Amino acid sequence: MCDDGVMTDTPPRLSWTACTAAGRSVLDAVAHDPAGTMLALDFDGTLAPIVDDPTTSRILPESRQALARMCDDLAGCAIVTGRPVDDVRRMAEIDSLPGLERLVVLGQYGVERYDAATGQVRSPEVPDAVRKAVEELRSAVDELVAGDARLAGLHVEDKGRAVALHTRRAADRQVAWTVASKLADEVATRRGLHAEEGREVIELTGTPTSKARALSELIDERHPRVVLMAGDDLGDVPALDLVGRWIEEGAPGARIVSYSAEQPALAGRADVLCDGPHGVAAFLREVANRVDDTW
Ligand SMILES: [Mg+2]
Repeated sequence: MCDDGVMTDTPPRLSWTACTAAGRSVLDAVAHDPAGTMLALDFDGTLAPIVDDPTTSRILPESRQALARMCDDLAGCAIVTGRPVDDVRRMAEIDSLPGLERLVVLGQYGVERYDAATGQVRSPEVPDAVRKAVEELRSAVDELVAGDARLAGLHVEDKGRAVALHTRRAADRQVAWTVASKLADEVATRRGLHAEEGREVIELTGTPTSKARALSELIDERHPRVVLMAGDDLGDVPALDLVGRWIEEGAPGARIVSYSAEQPALAGRADVLCDGPHGVAAFLREVANRVDDTW
């Protein structure tokens, strides 16, 4: 439960609510030291609403506007995502609209990196095992769907260095999840890949990477004094926990949780609990206001 009386298994009553001492003081900490503040944000479900077709995902304009107002003034401003950086460059309109010239995108859990300031992209070779897993999953899914109408809509997404099995659009999402979990396990074991479960999606990746490692590398590079990390899903937990330890050690910061009924357990980790991506947008606007006030 939030100290304010908000239950962790229900969405916040306001668009965002500070739940802990760290959450209640984080805006002051940012206002006091914007140049020492690092902002790390997950993309899907945090900056962008979850949509049935993951290729049509878009950042909320309010969130983009808030980031554009403040990114230049911060120690670091990063999107940390399971997606390839190219997806995020397009979906957050990083290169096509002004304001995000200093944004860093840590894609595929930090395996890829895009620095908007230099235009540099780091993108290692796609592991052979992932390429083979894409083919195997596609033919297995085609066969399964042909044999069982409840699985229609089960979908394989080639994410470059990872492959995702989506069950959100399946005719029977529960049956599809059971089948997809088993299939993902089999292919992961056979190909020596790592399987990670998210909201109605299972991802197989080559290198066991995590958003925590990606965030930790950025912290080592930028030396922030205040760290905020925002996420909505299980893949964000290691990075949120990293910020939790940062706060325990006495440094200012906050774990921002974009609440969804699909992943209610994450609310227990929140210093600031937001009502989905729109709540995150409202919180980011407030952060930008506080940064503005100091300049
Ligand atoms: Mg997410």
